[in-house]
Amino acid sequence: MSDTFAISANRQALLDTIAAAAGAAGRDPGDITLVAVSKRQSEERLDAALAAGQRVFGENRVQEAQAHWSARRAGHPDLELRLIGPLQSNKAEDAVALFDVIETLDRDKLAGALRKAMDAQGRTPRLYVQVNTGEEDQKAGVAPAELPDFLARMRQVYGFEIEGLMCIPPVEEPAGLHFALLGKLARENGVARLSMGMSGDFETAVALGATSVRVGTAFFGDRDT
Ligand SMILES: *Cc1c(COP(=O)(O)O)cnc(C)c1O
Repeated sequence: MSDTFAISANRQALLDTIAAAAGAAGRDPGDITLVAVSKRQSEERLDAALAAGQRVFGENRVQEAQAHWSARRAGHPDLELRLIGPLQSNKAEDAVALFDVIETLDRDKLAGALRKAMDAQGRTPRLYVQVNTGEEDQKAGVAPAELPDFLARMRQVYGFEIEGLMCIPPVEEPAGLHFALLGKLARENGVARLSMGMSGDFETAVALGATSVRVGTAFFGDRDT
């Protein structure tokens, strides 16, 4: 099967499943954005996704995202690019220049670098704070207990408007527990949007309030290793 046909069919199936999960939860499907995670996918597949009408993409590395999207953006001014992987402070300038949304804000040093880059470039990517809901040592993100103070600093010290919270649940635990926790943290802290859910669990995420789901393999097929 050609990439173009398969990806168009995958995309429609995902949109249908999201709509059904939203309907079952009494939600408006229009409130949920399908983010196609294009890391380690081929050029052909990226073009197939564009041909299918997909415009919102997630990437987890700045350099790879530049290679994938800098030229394609010229032909598609309505693209929306989201950074969903860890960001080093020394890449903040490049990230601000490329991305429309940065979902992995999780420390003051990075906030300072983003503020500086945003002021210098006059660009204001929308920002999400990553929360380490499973409190895993190896995982990025703000610990739940530290979130209120962190959000207060992001708003007061750096002047950021925080659009949403993002999480990546521990692989060995039921994702729903983490999605529910992220939703609770968002309500308690006055944050409007929730980036949660991947190929294996996006329906659960929609049921628990996700406003964007980050789907890679179920959209494009397996990634290059
Ligand atoms: C790779 C990745 C995804 C997509 O994962 P799939 O299981 O392929 O859908 C989602 N979120 C983040 C943060 C990722 O790094």
